[in-house]
Amino acid sequence: MAKKTFACKDIGMQCGFTAEAANEQDLMQKIAKHAKEAHGMNKIDDATMKKVKAAIKSA
Ligand SMILES: [Zn+2]
Repeated sequence: MAKKTFACKDIGMQCGFTAEAANEQDLMQKIAKHAKEAHGMNKIDDATMKKVKAAIKSA
């Protein structure tokens, strides 16, 4: 089964964070948690969300 992966640097962040999950919903939860803890984003805005979704890869 394909995994979904995301790397923070792919949206232009100076950050070594990567995440992977079995589906996009789980991945988004991990990304949201990281964005809050590491980048102080309590909510991912629409523009950032679009970048995140564009940067998600199937592995
Ligand atoms: Zn990050």
